[in-house]
Amino acid sequence: MSLSQIKLERYSRQIVLPQIGKDGQEKLLFSKVIVVGVGGLGALVSLYLAEAGIGVLGIVDNDNVELDNLNRQVLYFEEDIGKLKVEIAKKKLQKINSEIKVISHHLRLDKNNILEIIKDYDIIVDCTDNFDSRFLINDACVANKKTLVHGAVLGFEGQVTSIVPGKSPCYRCLFDKEPPQGTISSCREAGVTGAVAGIVASIQSAEALKLILNIGTPLIGELLTFDALAMSFRKVKIPKNPNCPACSI
Ligand SMILES: [Zn+2]
Repeated sequence: MSLSQIKLERYSRQIVLPQIGKDGQEKLLFSKVIVVGVGGLGALVSLYLAEAGIGVLGIVDNDNVELDNLNRQVLYFEEDIGKLKVEIAKKKLQKINSEIKVISHHLRLDKNNILEIIKDYDIIVDCTDNFDSRFLINDACVANKKTLVHGAVLGFEGQVTSIVPGKSPCYRCLFDKEPPQGTISSCREAGVTGAVAGIVASIQSAEALKLILNIGTPLIGELLTFDALAMSFRKVKIPKNPNCPACSI
């Protein structure tokens, strides 16, 4: 299949990149990515992936738009308050790119539904904001050999890593169990700005594109952390835990 004239024009700034080209753009158009959580990270990740021409883009969320989301969740406007995030996000993403397929999943992932939801996607982008979901997504991705891009933001700090089961350590190698309740604050308590969430989301989006296109050096086995106040970025190797309950089995 060759790219139509309209597609050539829409994606021309990507196609001109030697690392992407027409073949890379076709790969993107045939790829299937699911973004879990369309909040501060996921709203921007899904926007960038829709713009890039990801052929099938899944979005998962269970929440409604609230006023205090609007400092960072770029897909939602004041008129959307009270409405379902996945419905609003799908509508806007299809308006940005009507040539891709956006599938909305109005639910919270749990151990009973996660396999059914992720099975048709190539890459899972974790944009959730809690440890329960992160461990659940990690374990399901590792068990089903799905590539996972993890990102998290808190205050002025953020982190991203990419997990390719069989090739890299996993999220449980990094944190073997949930921190005790109350020891790590949430965004609600610690605060977050759109600008800092946007840095994490941009890095996650770039990682997803690199993994689909098989270009560059994704953050496999490495955790990228940054502190936006100092504007310092650091990469640390993630050691594989030989006793990891998720990936050592
Ligand atoms: Zn592991």
